[in-house]
Amino acid sequence: MVDTELYPDQVYDLISVIPDPEIPVITIKDLGILRAVRIEDEEYIVTITPTYTACPAMGMIEDQIKEILSERGIKKVKVELTYSPAWTTDWLSYEAKIKLKQYGIAPPNHSSCSHMFDASEKVICPRCNSKQTELISRFGSTACKALYKCNSCKETFDLFKCH
Ligand SMILES: [Zn+2]
Repeated sequence: MVDTELYPDQVYDLISVIPDPEIPVITIKDLGILRAVRIEDEEYIVTITPTYTACPAMGMIEDQIKEILSERGIKKVKVELTYSPAWTTDWLSYEAKIKLKQYGIAPPNHSSCSHMFDASEKVICPRCNSKQTELISRFGSTACKALYKCNSCKETFDLFKCH
């Protein structure tokens, strides 16, 4: 057994509050990237599925996981990245989509993202709900987002891209 009293479920709960480094209003659990915690060879294995293979935020998330668990006396932690099945925007919780919108990011507009980002699709402005929006850049503040402009309220906003 591991030299701690925590079950994998409890470890999961402890780290589920970690905010996404890019979108601090949603947690890694909301985002759907925190997959599971298990014990293997006296070590806690945390499984994370990155949103994008090149997302630089992963290192920060890993550091935070280790920091939180270290405070609880857990030193034997391994963060495992898994790319299969690949993360999709379907894994965003309903709550996460509401939070994204409140944060000024348009949530992905499909319930199922089986196709790649399509620039011709109508995106609703998260601020005023207008459909009079246009794509400015396929890449917003990060590779995971696209930058849009709303022609009603004249604001720019990010779309959390479907992929
Ligand atoms: Zn608007």
